[in-house]
Amino acid sequence: MSNFKFSINEIKLLILDFLFPKYCVNCGSEVLSTDGWVCFECTQKIVPVVSQICPECEKLSPMGEYHSNCRKGKSLKGIICSTYFHEGPVREMIHNLKYNGVSELAAPLARLMERALEKSEIRILNDKFDVRNSDFVITYVPMHNSRKATRGYNHAEILAREIGQKLNIKVEDLLIKKSKTRRQAELSGNARRKNLSGAFAVKPDICIKNCKIIIVDDVTTTGSTLNECAKVLKTAGAKEIWGLVIARG
Ligand SMILES: [Zn+2]
Ligand SMILES: [Zn+2]
Repeated sequence: MSNFKFSINEIKLLILDFLFPKYCVNCGSEVLSTDGWVCFECTQKIVPVVSQICPECEKLSPMGEYHSNCRKGKSLKGIICSTYFHEGPVREMIHNLKYNGVSELAAPLARLMERALEKSEIRILNDKFDVRNSDFVITYVPMHNSRKATRGYNHAEILAREIGQKLNIKVEDLLIKKSKTRRQAELSGNARRKNLSGAFAVKPDICIKNCKIIIVDDVTTTGSTLNECAKVLKTAGAKEIWGLVIARG
């Protein structure tokens, strides 16, 4: 009898694995329920960002801050990036989170973002400042209501709530997407900015005067979406706004 050491929960998971096998979103090999949606080998291929870069010129910059000569017309201070889009399973994980309803993928992706934020914090801590003990709040890029209704959730919101809970930072629902826009991935440079112009607004009756805000999104390419969100937050009185993303697309 001593060989039977499975708990009820383990037996449940074994039965679930047998009835509903799960496959790695990246390589398609079967994974155990406890391993989530990415196999061990693929998880090992995720590379965290060690040195942040300026979102404009892509040269090294602490915390992903815009260089002073790269900041023109930007409302964000910088964009903190967590991992690389084209390394390992990241791209597939984001795709499945956004378009295939695999909301469970938010947790492992949020872990990567937490690590990136904590790493950035070291530098902020040197300046005797801690994002967790400050007036920093986390918010997220909103989704148009009709799109959220079709998809069932806003992936950026789930990521933001995971990060906020884990790092004990307040998460606030600050922004709305007023108009439905074309997907940014379909457009290039200038067209991206135009596409989003006037698309976002700060929710009515919200006071963010002098607030420091971190806006969470999945992927950034030109930084247009995050800067457009930052612009309305800044106009509403926010003091300092950062972007936090999984990866640069
Ligand atoms: Zn795999
Ligand atoms: Zn720069």
